[in-house]
Amino acid sequence: MKKSLPFTKKQIEEIIKIYPTPFHIYDEKAIRENARKFYQAFSWIDGFKNYFAVKANPNPHILKILKKESMGTDCSSLPELILAEKVGLKGEEIMFTSNETPAKEYQYAKKLGAIINLDDISHIEFLESATGLPKLICCRYNPGPTREGNRFIGNPAEAKYGMTKEQLFKAYKILKEKGAKRFGLHTMVVSNELNPEQIIETAKMLFELVIEISQEVEIKLEFVNLGGGIGIPYKLEQEPMNLSYVSQKIKKLYEEMIVKNALDPLGIVFECGRMVTGPYGYLVTTVLHQKHIYKDYVGVDACMANLMRPALYGAYHYQTVLGKENYPQNHIYDVVGSLCENNDKFAIDRKLPKIEIGDIIVIHDTGAHGYAMGFNYNGKLRSAELLLKADGSLGQIRRAETVDDYFATLDFSGL
Ligand SMILES: *Cc1c(COP(=O)(O)O)cnc(C)c1O
Repeated sequence: MKKSLPFTKKQIEEIIKIYPTPFHIYDEKAIRENARKFYQAFSWIDGFKNYFAVKANPNPHILKILKKESMGTDCSSLPELILAEKVGLKGEEIMFTSNETPAKEYQYAKKLGAIINLDDISHIEFLESATGLPKLICCRYNPGPTREGNRFIGNPAEAKYGMTKEQLFKAYKILKEKGAKRFGLHTMVVSNELNPEQIIETAKMLFELVIEISQEVEIKLEFVNLGGGIGIPYKLEQEPMNLSYVSQKIKKLYEEMIVKNALDPLGIVFECGRMVTGPYGYLVTTVLHQKHIYKDYVGVDACMANLMRPALYGAYHYQTVLGKENYPQNHIYDVVGSLCENNDKFAIDRKLPKIEIGDIIVIHDTGAHGYAMGFNYNGKLRSAELLLKADGSLGQIRRAETVDDYFATLDFSGL
């Protein structure tokens, strides 16, 4: 898929005068258009919803935009629940998909009226003693060796999440006995997946379970949650997943399996993060240095504290050298940050135009799991986040960290 930018070099140069690099900048218009396309593709489903995975981009301005596009949030910690609450999301607009959950997080989730998604059968008792069981409850399924998962998330049998099939049935029986009235079923078996068949397969797997559960436990499920994990085309040769195709295939399965067994209406929901904001964020950074030793290095003012994916997973992020879009890409560089870790590289052996000090490099697809994975190791400070608003104006939606922020949790008294 061809990579483009929602801003010009001139615009960015003006922005840098006010907000120095590095920063992440998000494109509101594109986020909204994409959200609408997502909902449009699944509009045949009564009660379709995407619970945006807050961990992908935990900024209240982004959550607010998504709320306006009818999305809820998927939270997995107390601060994420509070973020959802602060942007005005309520009750069942919030899914709480946590694991190894502390009691006080369950208490807060219950207080908000969030849909609690149980990661394990033992959490029924834990939740009950922490805060009492809600009437609406969801259970997370792990298909184990019956599903292959994908290369990013790995083999479900090795994944810590969810319950076995046997536990799942038992959990619904216990929950029913204890007075639960409304039920959901969740799974997440893929991550950054571009093959539509994987999502269709997940829907089929859950529909089969819905049928079996209705027969064995005699409960009617209200929704299935297919999780997140829809990928984005980080590489030029990749294409976005065709959601209309996925939706139509799922519709067919829904008719053959759910409607035929009189189990409709059954809601279908997702908790996608990456495909919602990922392609619409950019990390903008300035070239500070160049060095030529055994390889040619371009040193920029961002580092893996601003975007960890390349260092962590060897992930590919396309880069544009502003103003040199049409120059021949006849130089090979490692584009590196300043962290004292040799894997702090945004690109390795990347073909780029000839780079000069002061050039501005835009790293694409940082709108999800970008800023969010930031950290302070090596005394690195997190960057600002900017929003290119739908009306064309610019807003700073998070300021950059300062040295004072870094020292805020330290105590020098009594030294
Ligand atoms: C991380 C996560 C998501 C979001 O994954 P994406 O790849 O961003 O779509 C959704 N649900 C759960 C439970 C997660 O852990």
